Amino acid sequence: MKWSKLHIYTLKEAPADAEIISHKLLVRGGFIKKLAPGIYTYGNLLVRSLRKFENIIREELNKRNCIEVLMPVVHPQALWEETGRWNEMGDGLLKFKNRNDQGFCLAATHEEAVTDYVRHDIKSYRDLPKNIYQIQTKYRDEIRPRFGLMRGREFTMKDAYSFDINPEEALKSYQSMYDAYKAIFDRLGLNYRIVQADAGNIGGSQTHEFQVLADAGEDALLVSTESDFAANVEVAPAIDAVPYISKETTLKDKEKFATPNLKTIAQLSKSLKVPENELVKTLFFSSNEGFNPKDQTIKPFCVLLRGSDEVNPVKLKNMLGMVNPPLMLTDEEVHSVSGAMPGSCGPVGLNIPIYIDNGVLGLKNFIVGANEDNFHFKNINIDRDFKVTKSGDLRMAKEGDKCPSGKGTLKSYRGIEVGHVFYLGTKYSQKMRAQYLDKNGKAQPIEMGCYGIGVTRTLQAAIEQCFDVDGIIWPKSIAPFHVHICVLDINKEAVMSVAEKIMTDLENQNIEVLMDDRDERPGSKFKDADLLGMPVRIVIGEKGLNNNEIEVVERKTKSVSKVNPTQVVELVKSLLK
Ligand code: ATP
Ligand code: MG
Repeated sequence: MKWSKLHIYTLKEAPADAEIISHKLLVRGGFIKKLAPGIYTYGNLLVRSLRKFENIIREELNKRNCIEVLMPVVHPQALWEETGRWNEMGDGLLKFKNRNDQGFCLAATHEEAVTDYVRHDIKSYRDLPKNIYQIQTKYRDEIRPRFGLMRGREFTMKDAYSFDINPEEALKSYQSMYDAYKAIFDRLGLNYRIVQADAGNIGGSQTHEFQVLADAGEDALLVSTESDFAANVEVAPAIDAVPYISKETTLKDKEKFATPNLKTIAQLSKSLKVPENELVKTLFFSSNEGFNPKDQTIKPFCVLLRGSDEVNPVKLKNMLGMVNPPLMLTDEEVHSVSGAMPGSCGPVGLNIPIYIDNGVLGLKNFIVGANEDNFHFKNINIDRDFKVTKSGDLRMAKEGDKCPSGKGTLKSYRGIEVGHVFYLGTKYSQKMRAQYLDKNGKAQPIEMGCYGIGVTRTLQAAIEQCFDVDGIIWPKSIAPFHVHICVLDINKEAVMSVAEKIMTDLENQNIEVLMDDRDERPGSKFKDADLLGMPVRIVIGEKGLNNNEIEVVERKTKSVSKVNPTQVVELVKSLLK
């Protein structure tokens, strides 16, 4: 393919909104162009990579008896109301009405649509198992779309759904997808980890995320130094490296004392000379999920943690059986509940549920806010001074914590979630009455799993891992073209005819070639070749040909070979192996 026949326009500078390297390189290379925030046109070069990645996915899934379909992007409101997600999904679901005032949404995911698709057809246990997938556009009205394709509003997802007769069979389907994902991401050659993730209240209990390791990743991961434990920080159990044992032996009398200008844990710790992990902080939330538009009242509760710890919203959500992490109260709401502004609040005398992180359980005679501005209590003790509604692991685990497997400690990484496998159970099939008749003729809800790959996100994640100062270094399996020919003297017929022949010879070997036949200076051609990142570059110019030489450069290592024109094809083949 000749550059002159394509639509490729590279940029010297990245736009101001591109914060991370992969986003900058995608825009500079003309792979993507923004139409609106989080919404992009994919240029021909990206489409070529996209199709290759899609086909890798198809090969691995078809091999495992998955069935490809294509479901609609526009869904009726009534469908999403069957599962309650019309409201639960909140504003992330883009809703609209047609001319007849009927409600619709753009598909953010397809559990409802696929369950509807199969529920009429699947009658008996003989119809199962089934695994149905598609590669298609999703729309999520993300609050803060950013990082290009990483968190887009419109993006391409591969979503698959398994249907089985019982949990045991469903977990076999789960394992098969887990294996497929490993094969898929291995074929891209990415450095990734498979981590435990939040199963939430969606139904089933098994879930893993596939995370490409990159500093720009939005997810925090904790990986064991010694065992194969790896988890998203959302669910990593927090176990202190050294268990805390209070030096206090007797319970002292509660005492109120003035703490003007001491609002934060850091200020209190410094002024009172008490380590942060011996102070207790009180945070306020509402357990009202806000799904019912008629009931937007706050349902306050508070959480106690050691001053040195951070609350884990996902653990909190799961302890309370909520669908989404609870919202924190505003300062004014905290005041109306406790009588004081944040910084002077504590559990004593509160008339709301009190949840405590188990890190607080070991403390005695500790300090908390007195629910009176600029005052704290000292010598507070659990049970004697306030009652606990429930205690548990509510804090963020952190680097250096003990590994839950018992072996080693936790080390932190950043990750980009490119895939997610999920055992769902019967949450959707029960609500949507997707049933089959078992061997005894009894109707049973179908066991389900769902499995997503962020197809466009993965392409960008690959770049986030594969680049150098000059540009992209595409993994061979998804490079838009294998070879980039820079023709230096396009007006010399002899040069052009050698270039054309080499291109044809390569193409005859199923090697895809981009030929830069523009009337540009060599320097700018080389810069663009480095930026676009095809695995092999071939330089053909008059000077070289006079010495019967063609330059072949490997993009990744920048190693240069000068060979006779007749040797080019073999050399390229060996470089692409
Ligand atoms: P995240 O936690 O990143 O918001 P999610 O848990 O909402 O993702 P899933 O519903 O599991 O995502 O979707 C399956 C896959 O789709 C994810 O693993 C991710 O790779 C991709 N994905 C999700 N949201 C986006 C987005 N806004 N832009 C691009 N890809 C996305
Ligand atoms: Mg996820």
